[in-house]
Amino acid sequence: MQRDLHKLRNIGIIAHIDAGKTTVTERMLFLSGAKHRVGEVDKGTTDTDSDPEEQERGITIYAACVTFPWKDVTINLLDTPGHVDFTAEVERCLRVLDGAVVVFSAREGVEAQSETVWRQADKYKVPRVAFINKLDREGADFEAVFGEISKRLAAHPVAIQIPVGQGPQHVKDPFRGIIDLIEMKMLTFGGDRQSREVKAEEIPADQRERADEWRSAMLEKLYDYSNELMELALQEEQIPTELIRQVLRKATVGLQVQPVMCGSALHGIGVQPVLDAVQYYLPSPLDVPPVEGRAVEQNKDGSAKIEQRKPSPEEPFCGLVFKVLPAKTGDIHWIRVYSGVLKQNSRVLNSGKNFKENVSQLWIIHATKREEQIDSVQAGDIVGAIGPRQSITGDTLCDPKAPLLLETIQFPETVISAAVEPESTADRKKLGEVLEMLKRQDPTFRAHENEETGQTIISGMGELHLEVVQHRLQRDFNLNVRVHRPRVSYKETVNARAEAVGKCNRQIGGQTLFAEVKVRVAPLHEDQACRVSTNWFVEDSVKQNAIQLVLSALKEAAEGGGLKGCPLWSCALELLEMPFPDPLPGEVALRIAAADAFTKALQSAGVTVLEPIMRLEVTTPEEHLGDVINDLQQRRATINSTESRGGMTVLEAEAPLSAMFGYSAAVRSLSQGRASFSMEPLKYGPAPPDVQAGFI
Ligand code: GDP
Ligand code: MG
Repeated sequence: MQRDLHKLRNIGIIAHIDAGKTTVTERMLFLSGAKHRVGEVDKGTTDTDSDPEEQERGITIYAACVTFPWKDVTINLLDTPGHVDFTAEVERCLRVLDGAVVVFSAREGVEAQSETVWRQADKYKVPRVAFINKLDREGADFEAVFGEISKRLAAHPVAIQIPVGQGPQHVKDPFRGIIDLIEMKMLTFGGDRQSREVKAEEIPADQRERADEWRSAMLEKLYDYSNELMELALQEEQIPTELIRQVLRKATVGLQVQPVMCGSALHGIGVQPVLDAVQYYLPSPLDVPPVEGRAVEQNKDGSAKIEQRKPSPEEPFCGLVFKVLPAKTGDIHWIRVYSGVLKQNSRVLNSGKNFKENVSQLWIIHATKREEQIDSVQAGDIVGAIGPRQSITGDTLCDPKAPLLLETIQFPETVISAAVEPESTADRKKLGEVLEMLKRQDPTFRAHENEETGQTIISGMGELHLEVVQHRLQRDFNLNVRVHRPRVSYKETVNARAEAVGKCNRQIGGQTLFAEVKVRVAPLHEDQACRVSTNWFVEDSVKQNAIQLVLSALKEAAEGGGLKGCPLWSCALELLEMPFPDPLPGEVALRIAAADAFTKALQSAGVTVLEPIMRLEVTTPEEHLGDVINDLQQRRATINSTESRGGMTVLEAEAPLSAMFGYSAAVRSLSQGRASFSMEPLKYGPAPPDVQAGFI
């Protein structure tokens, strides 16, 4: 059976850790009728948070996408990770979502990670609705958070609801319901957490004036998007609910506004309206622009030929692998289908890597009956495929007769590494296999062998990321391995511009190997790996090959490490010229000359070791602020701003990752467990002198 694409919603829930993503998800699944009891995070009974035993049970482990019905639509809810160490995962999910629900905590407000995620959603043009959760918590402040969304996120929030009261039961005016500003009704919810009931009643007299003000504010924000609505409003005519919804939908899908709702997911308040909003305001796969990709053949001038594919079953198949999960039956490749139809038992082309894969089974995971095997899936939908063996996250799969390459997913550099030591030969062998598999699943995770020491090194996005990997190695895969203390990943950059000529002039086996290469290095103000390039182009294809060879040798040298042995960063390395004597230099000579030019250029420019700097946000009760700041200063942090918010202070800082090891335990003990924080890689900056001195 084919699904009606108009009635499909591919969405994700994105949130700062602890804002309530899991709780909201559980509540949604419960409300959709899929689950009989609502799970609770604190009791470890949730569906979406994975547990190790899941692995034994089949393919639902770490399910990438759960499908459930809501009123007229079918919702594909994609799993998005909840921790800052996994920002890249959020990013890859955003690539394949059509819309998102962003959850904020009414107490903590817009936190560091919400900001990052919001910016990523902007980048990938993902329309969103916002849900301000935890209105039952002490210190909840709807208006403040609403204001922050507009100020800190430079967004265009439109409140379509307001809370009635806020805070816990014992305060004077506790949170007890919400006012729907579109229907102008007061909504109350079951009372019991296992209830699905929503009651819509008249707005109480003492709330009327406030509701009218917020409604006018909502309508005013929509004037820009509809003359009809503006005229009706100015003439003080009745505005049809349908019209408001239409205008809101258009502006939300067009990324012009973000409808804002509120509630308490834990107490079952306000989640039904969020699902309604997903239906009303978030796009279907047909509402988003056609996907663009590069055709395999190029334009005459050698530039890439861009092709568009509509989300229609009539077009040839193309899709993007956005997640690879292990299963007993073989890895499951989760694919967003952008065009055409993908059938069971078919062959597809991995267009970026030019090999074919089998698709033997297609699965969708229902919240109701766990999993279902299907024959085919069409444009706009999301499916788990079993069969592909070598494709990884970010790869395009397509109809071999109509090759197309979608833009691949970019992943940030790793900032931390640790050595792993297997305890036996058997463990060593298994470790190699497991690490390969983990790399396929998680593109932000790296593993390699240090050539000098023979040690296996794993690298990732932060302390927690490596902890999770360690946990999986030891617990999920029963490997006896010792993971050493993690170390930050250093880089190096050049201090100045410099040019150098590298030479190879050797007699080997009666032959003279001769080559010369001239390069230039220069510092760059960009936070990325060294750019290796040349402006030099020769028609002769043999000479052109020699140039390409030198470029790849320079690239390898830059990645392999400069004078301090760290990969080159924030700089450019340019091949300026090389003579072409007759006969042309061979590969060995060219490589030797390139390496020599590289080293000489670095020596003449001078180098500096860089270390990863993290962006950090700490939310702490005022009475612990002094201790938190003191501690941060000892960690070489720069505090950029402090702001108070309902009895809590939010502090934004930058600090070197090397000084932040073990911070979660430290901040907990400093604040008697009351402060929370988040951290994510920000940039690379010069390491302090003692670290510089350590690299000779
Ligand atoms: P996630 O990290 O975003 O997935 O957040 P969770 O759903 O795991 O929630 C974090 C904590 O906040 C848990 O202890 C939840 O019980 C609690 N929580 C979630 N929603 C609410 C809410 O609406 N009110 C209150 N008081 N607590 C909540
Ligand atoms: Mg969670």
